[in-house]
Amino acid sequence: MRKLILDHVLLPEGWGQNVGLDIDGGTIMAVHRQADAGGRERIAGIALPGLPNLHSHTFQRGMAGLAETRGPEGDSFWTWRQVMYRFLGSLTPDDVEAIAAFAMMEMLEGGFTSLAEFHYLHHDAEGRPYADIAELCRRIAAGANESGMGLTLLPVFYAQGGFGAVAPAEGQRRFINDAESYLRLLEGARRAVADVEDGVVGVAPHSLRAVTPESLGEIVALAGEGPVHIHIAEQVKEVEDCVAWSGQRPVAWLLDHAPVDRHWCLIHATHLDARETKGIAESGAVAGLCPITEANLGDGIFEGVDYLAAGGRFGVGSDSNIEISAPGELRQFEYSQRLKHRARNVLAAREGQSTGRSLYDQALMGGAQALGRRVGAIEAGYRADLVVLDAGHPDLAAVSGDRWIDSYLFVAGKSAIDTVFVAGKPVVRGGRHVNREAVAARYARAMARILS
Ligand SMILES: [Zn+2]
Repeated sequence: MRKLILDHVLLPEGWGQNVGLDIDGGTIMAVHRQADAGGRERIAGIALPGLPNLHSHTFQRGMAGLAETRGPEGDSFWTWRQVMYRFLGSLTPDDVEAIAAFAMMEMLEGGFTSLAEFHYLHHDAEGRPYADIAELCRRIAAGANESGMGLTLLPVFYAQGGFGAVAPAEGQRRFINDAESYLRLLEGARRAVADVEDGVVGVAPHSLRAVTPESLGEIVALAGEGPVHIHIAEQVKEVEDCVAWSGQRPVAWLLDHAPVDRHWCLIHATHLDARETKGIAESGAVAGLCPITEANLGDGIFEGVDYLAAGGRFGVGSDSNIEISAPGELRQFEYSQRLKHRARNVLAAREGQSTGRSLYDQALMGGAQALGRRVGAIEAGYRADLVVLDAGHPDLAAVSGDRWIDSYLFVAGKSAIDTVFVAGKPVVRGGRHVNREAVAARYARAMARILS
């Protein structure tokens, strides 16, 4: 049993002071308001529930910054994807693990305490399955164990190169499975994640362009009670191709043909018409927004204002990991809406509410739902995932309450993070991961070889 006393805590009912937490087996067993400090480890600062990261491809951390040179003609998501295909041509299992551990370490230092890894890199560089088809799932699980990250692993089903059963391109050969090999992959993923404390496994049909209607149904049926994530409507071309193939836009097609409910997370959902916006909100699914990556890739702007007005749920993800920051994702989401609507404080739930607090609360709830984890609140029965901000940080020292969160999101960013706990264990102290040196050195060695 670990017994903490926290100076300031964001509890479900609001801000508390001198709050005692009893933690056992990674779970908060009891919360004591106005606790006695005797026999408790004191954690100075401002404790928030750690934010779930609902979407990432950790290997892409290694190519961050490699696709920022202008090409011969209009650069786009599709030219970025060509860089990504070339980069992963040289990745070994050791590289995948080293990059995963490094990315997860940065996520923990950046305010994320659990991760849904949308894992689509399965086979060797020639497209042959490894001796254990789930070899790279095991490497992701190892990265979670090395970094201390709470893991929801989503093995991706990817079977075709485009709408209408187009054959996969050569650059996609490391991703491809049929329904039979996917089943073995999923079983292997479940074995790999059994070694990760509190690990969860879901399923992820990659996108409507990568599956057939039949295989989508088969894969979704394998999820059990686990989450189902899918990329959708990220790109205008993808919307146009879907309309050409089916006569419907992607989200409209999905809502009509798949059992979308609270177990689902629709990643990006950038290009929506009014009916689709309302349809996702009413389904109970989570919109998985990745605002920094969506800006980097030039995807477009989500219909945030209408979606939240319709009661839609959302969480945020770091996706390509071009920049890893929980406060940065929420800030970018709000700023994208300010630019779109030429207004300020557009995502706060009501007049007089802090925008930072409103965004943080909603992303906690949506993120926890999307990851299928008992996280997102400092309350008995939840995992003890905490992000503790430095109360002496220049941007936080003179304010209090919800202003702390506004300053964290809009001003200080991740520089305000002092201590991070996952399942009651401190993994970040003084803003640095406890194994930073070893994890960073291994990453640097891997990258030097990959880029040589
Ligand atoms: Zn993605």
